[in-house]
Amino acid sequence: MDSTHLQPATTPLKIHFIPFISPGHIIPLSELARIFASRGEHVTIITTPFNADLLQKSIDEDRDSGEHIGIHTVEWSATELGLPHGIENLSNVTDLETAIKLHRALMLMQKQMEDFMTRNPPDCIIADTFYPWASEFANRMGIPRLIFYPWSTFALCLMESIRSPDSPHRRLSSDSDPFVVPGLPHPIILTRSQLPEHDRKDIADPAAQLMDQHKETEMKSYGIILNNFAEIETEYTEHYKKITGHKVWHIGPAAAIVHRNAKEKAERVFKSDEHDNNLVINWLNSKEPNSVVYVCFGSGCQFPDKQLYEIACGLELSGHQFVWVVRGKDKQIDVNDDGEKTWLPKGFEERMKTENKGLIVRGWAPQVLVLDHPSLGCFLTHCGWNSTIEGITAGVPLITWPVFAEQFYNEKLITQVHGNGVVVGSEEWIMLFTVAKSLVSRDKIENAVRKIMDGGDEAVQIRRRARELGEKAWKAASTGGSSYNNLTAAIEDLKRLREDRSKLKTKTI
Ligand code: UDP
Repeated sequence: MDSTHLQPATTPLKIHFIPFISPGHIIPLSELARIFASRGEHVTIITTPFNADLLQKSIDEDRDSGEHIGIHTVEWSATELGLPHGIENLSNVTDLETAIKLHRALMLMQKQMEDFMTRNPPDCIIADTFYPWASEFANRMGIPRLIFYPWSTFALCLMESIRSPDSPHRRLSSDSDPFVVPGLPHPIILTRSQLPEHDRKDIADPAAQLMDQHKETEMKSYGIILNNFAEIETEYTEHYKKITGHKVWHIGPAAAIVHRNAKEKAERVFKSDEHDNNLVINWLNSKEPNSVVYVCFGSGCQFPDKQLYEIACGLELSGHQFVWVVRGKDKQIDVNDDGEKTWLPKGFEERMKTENKGLIVRGWAPQVLVLDHPSLGCFLTHCGWNSTIEGITAGVPLITWPVFAEQFYNEKLITQVHGNGVVVGSEEWIMLFTVAKSLVSRDKIENAVRKIMDGGDEAVQIRRRARELGEKAWKAASTGGSSYNNLTAAIEDLKRLREDRSKLKTKTI
């Protein structure tokens, strides 16, 4: 008899999760997988050896606590694509060509993943949007596939509207002219320069084709899950459901649900050196509440030295204390012939140290731990969705500096819908690993930091709204909150589907 034959609702679901291999994807989807397991479902994460190693410790800890969660590792064979040895996650990639190769290499894993799932049929597949094949495969197996988007429905709605032939950006004479995105619950204002290049020019480049593929995949899937909480975008979720007819489950913020203590928060998939973590936390411990600006641009953003120099000047001019995470400067020699750092003003780091004003973290910071710290006064962020939701959950005001992907849309959710942050004034969308035509100047950075950190009526209102949103996020994440209930609903829905399938099978036997 088939293993799915008349399984009662009490039988746990068997779910296979397939995360995309970059920090902004694998961190939230592995956390969501662990949340499903914490509710008694049987979870397997399918990934490659390097990425399995990143996840192993937390999965082992979950298993020790009695949860049914494991990792299935597929072989990584990317040498034929010319990928350098050891490149198995986008976090190690610094150029577009290698990123494309990495994506291709991952798509080569399809057969191994399909073979494993055929031998071990799940009740449902939850795969990142970057696996378009998973929907058709699930349909062939007669099971549902849920898509994980590392975005919000707000961003998905903007993507839909911008793609429409009527979007006003198509008729503007200049890239810097503002326009109102049509058909949305609020008048959201953007400029054409803030749109992804393929949307700006309507060119059929690989990025546009990838977006089309995401859309097709969505049409063939059962629904979508998000690392987000419903209250932040109720009208947009309704709008999205109306225009796509899709099921949507908000079951985050994952980091707030899954981590039991500070140690776990510090070791989320990518770990920083324990000594460096202690240094940051001890430094923050010595600071007054709401007094420190945290500056971090996620895992992929790379600024040229000139831009880093402007950031250093802007922070120093603001007079406020900061923790600044800089990637790409951890290993390389970053001094000129005179022994000076090319990306920092003369004596900057030493000065900040002597005055106890600022700390530069080279590489990776324990972001959620830092954001939760009472000394945090605001977060200058590139508006990657995970950073955005983590900043919102921490209840701190955000200073928005979007760069690529859907980050400009996330900025608008913050500054034009919720008012829990201010813009730094970045105007130009660029492709990951490319360099903007113009710099964000030191005075823009200084002004944005001062707007939040100097106090005054506007800053008080922004801080209040940020705090209130943070409270909503925590409420959604707690037992009986909206995300908790949404997860219950998703599980019940998937179990109902399984029951329908087994009834159908019983009839046909
Ligand atoms: N992150 C971190 N420490 C860092 C940089 C990033 O913990 O120094 C985490 C951050 O908390 C978030 C993820 O990496 O969970 C980055 O995802 P996001 O969507 O913000 O940006 P992306 O890296 O995809 O551009």
